[in-house]
Amino acid sequence: MKISFHGAARTVTGSQHLVETNGLRILLDCGLYQGKRSESFRLNRNLPFDASSVDVVALSHAHIDHSGNLPFLVKSGFKGDIVCTEATGDLAAVMLRDSAHIQEQDAEYLNRKRERDGLPPIEPLYDAGDALAACGRFSGTVYGRTLEPAPGVTLSFHDAGHILGSAFVVLEAANGSGAPLRLVFSGDLGRNGRPIVRDPEPCDGADALIIESTYGDRTHEEIKAGEERLLAVVTDAVKCGGKVVVPSFAVGRTQELVYGLHRFILDKKLPDTLPVYVDSPLAVEATEVYRLHPEAWDAETDALAASSGGKDPFGFARMRYTRTREESMALNDLKGPAVIISASGMAETGRILHHLKHNIGDERNTVLFVGYQAEHTLGRRLLDGAKTAKIFGVEYRVRARVERIDAMSAHADREEILAWLARFARPPKQTFVVHGEEKAAFAFRDELSSRGFPSVEAPARGETIEIG
Ligand SMILES: [Zn+2]
Ligand SMILES: [Zn+2]
Repeated sequence: MKISFHGAARTVTGSQHLVETNGLRILLDCGLYQGKRSESFRLNRNLPFDASSVDVVALSHAHIDHSGNLPFLVKSGFKGDIVCTEATGDLAAVMLRDSAHIQEQDAEYLNRKRERDGLPPIEPLYDAGDALAACGRFSGTVYGRTLEPAPGVTLSFHDAGHILGSAFVVLEAANGSGAPLRLVFSGDLGRNGRPIVRDPEPCDGADALIIESTYGDRTHEEIKAGEERLLAVVTDAVKCGGKVVVPSFAVGRTQELVYGLHRFILDKKLPDTLPVYVDSPLAVEATEVYRLHPEAWDAETDALAASSGGKDPFGFARMRYTRTREESMALNDLKGPAVIISASGMAETGRILHHLKHNIGDERNTVLFVGYQAEHTLGRRLLDGAKTAKIFGVEYRVRARVERIDAMSAHADREEILAWLARFARPPKQTFVVHGEEKAAFAFRDELSSRGFPSVEAPARGETIEIG
C-alpha cells in the first residue's frame, strides 16, 4: 500500500490523499484548497494525478475543504463512484451547487479584469453543470456497512461526530498471506457532547493512521460553558430590547444555534415570543437536509423530535427561515428583541453585511461571533475592538456590543484527539498527521512521538509513503 498526501498537508484546507493498493486507486476526499487567491487558483486547477485513473473516492464529510473539488475531478475525467454516507451526499449536493455559483462569479470578476489587461478569459474552476455531474456519482452508504470496491479491499464509514453525516473511514486491504493492512482516515474528528450529532465512534486500532490536527496544539472551552454563554448573551439582549446578530457558517453551526435556542425555549429559559431568523439561502437548504436525516441525529435530538406532538428540532413558533431578498430586507424594520443568524461566518460577504450595517450602530444590539475569525476579515477586526466598520464602502460607528463564543468548535482539541486515540488497542505502526497548520501539526506529531507512537510524521504536500 502507498499513500500520496496531495492536500491538507501542513495546512488545513484541500483534504486529498491518494491510496494505491491491490491495483486499486482510492482517493480519500477531494477538497478545495482555500488559501491565498493565486495559490488556490493554481492548486485547485492542477490535479497532481490523472483523474481518470482514480477508481473510487471515499468522502469523509460535506465541508467544502473536503468535497469542494469533486466537480473538477469529474470534469477532468473521473468515472467512478463517490462513496459517502447518505447525509453527506445530500449536504454536499447543496454545498457544491453553492460553490459552483461562487466559482462562476469569481471567474466573471477575474475576466472583467483580464479584459481590461488584454488577456483571454478563463473558465470557472467548475460550473453548476459540473457540480450536478459530481452529485450524480454519489453512492450513499450507512455507518458500519462494509463495502468491497474490489476483491481484497474493503471500505467502511463510522460516525466522526463532526457535522451531520461525517465519518472516519476504515480501509482494509489484503496483504499477501499475512493479515490485511488496516488504514484509518479520521476525516475531521468531532467532540463528545455536541448538539445534534452523536459522539465520535471509538476505533479499536489501525496499522496506519491519517489523523487531523486542526487544534492539535490547543484546548477548547467546555461545550457547556458555551451554551451558558449563548443563553446569557441572548437574555441580556432581550432585557434591553436589542437584537443579537450572529455571523454564522451556513452548514453545521447555524443548525446547532437554532437547536440550542429551541432547547432554551422548551426549558423556559428564553421566552417563546422571541423571534429567531435564519437569513441565508444556503443555511435554509442545509437545514432541510438536517431534517431529512434523523438517522444521523443523537439521542437528545431524537427525544426532542419524539416529545409531545412530535417536534421539529429546527423549527418552533417564532422561528423563521428567509429565502428571498424581500424577506431579508424586511428584517431591517424589525422592532424589539430578535436573533438574526446569517452568513458568511466571518462577515466578509453575503446578507450578514446588511444586518451589520443596520444594527451595528445601536448600543442595545450585540454582534455575536460563534466561529473562527481569520486574519484580515471584518469579523476579526470587530473582535479586535475596531471602533468603526467599513461595510459596502461606508464607515459605520460600532456601538453594538461585540461578543464571542469559542466553545462551539466542531473539531476535537488536543486532549479530545488523544482520548479518541487512547481507545486504540495499540498505537498504529505508522501515523500521519494532516489537516493542521504547520505549528499545530508539528506539535501534535511530537506529542504522539513522546507518547510512544513508533513512527509519526506530518507529511509535506506531494509526499508519497509506502505502508507496511
Ligand atoms: Zn469539516
Ligand atoms: Zn476540514
